[in-house]
Amino acid sequence: MALIPMRVLLDHAAENNYGVAALNVNNMEQIQSIMEAAEETESPVIIQASRGARSYSNDNYLKHLMLAAAELYPHLPIAMHLDHGNSAATCFTAIEQGFTSVMMDGSLEEDGKTPASYEYNVAVTKEVVNVAHKIGLTVEGELGCLGGIEDGHGAGLTGDEALAHLTDPKQAEEFVKRTGVDALAVAIGTSHGAYKFTKKPTGEVLKMSVIEEIHKRLPNTHLVMHGSSSVPQELQDIINKYGGEIKQTYGVPVEEIQRGIKHGVRKINVDTDNRLAITGAIRKVFAETPTKFDPRDYLKPARAAMKEVCKARMIAFGQAGNALKIKPVTKRKMIDFYSK
Ligand SMILES: [Zn+2]
Repeated sequence: MALIPMRVLLDHAAENNYGVAALNVNNMEQIQSIMEAAEETESPVIIQASRGARSYSNDNYLKHLMLAAAELYPHLPIAMHLDHGNSAATCFTAIEQGFTSVMMDGSLEEDGKTPASYEYNVAVTKEVVNVAHKIGLTVEGELGCLGGIEDGHGAGLTGDEALAHLTDPKQAEEFVKRTGVDALAVAIGTSHGAYKFTKKPTGEVLKMSVIEEIHKRLPNTHLVMHGSSSVPQELQDIINKYGGEIKQTYGVPVEEIQRGIKHGVRKINVDTDNRLAITGAIRKVFAETPTKFDPRDYLKPARAAMKEVCKARMIAFGQAGNALKIKPVTKRKMIDFYSK
């Protein structure tokens, strides 16, 4: 199947009450891990690349790796999504490169750091929606600010500061009405990166209740949870056992994500868990067999470790088993849908 607009996947997820992991990639091995996991679990796929990934791997390499995935797995629906576009121009270059979905993150200014005004967010998001919908592509917006920084993107808020920038449900309703976004990333106290919570999160710091409130007001908008790696203890332990120094940290428990899925969450961004899995596997090879120097000797186990994380999330979020049930929808059909 050719790469399809993300909205097609999210609509199917909403109709059938499941969520889809949106997995970040920077290189061939990560794309292979995701596609193998999707193949084994019959999962629809959202692969996303940040600005950092695009500059690390170069758009041309990324584009052709994604086309290779679509060619190798013609039966699996795949959306290729831009994570955290910082400006309309960034979104438009992604579209030019073949992305089928873009995130316009107008919650921050173009520097990707300074929290932006609400009016700026509405205007810039609407500008992207106007262009993307005319060609049948999907747009995700963001309202509120998450904690942390990843890939140079983020306001760098601490956990407490992030709690002061939660998404306001009433404003969310107005934002979606004014911009026409397909999906909305919400701030509920999570952070990007590995260091999200200093202990297992309770409702005091992880505000799942905000999601429930937003979903009540916007039952037809696909909600997105960012910074939603679970940061499993065993992945931290492997890294530290083989010479790493990851400070004890806690992520978003899978049960909380599943609760979100019951309340309109359709896309869940997971990056850190895959990074941890890759690093742990590579450290293990280096520590146990220091004589090895063929990159394949450590990239193969790295790829296998990431695949296991992807499979576990695909099963937990309920997307497993759904790939073959999704009918391909052409961009033309989506254009007609938006022009109604
Ligand atoms: Zn994010």
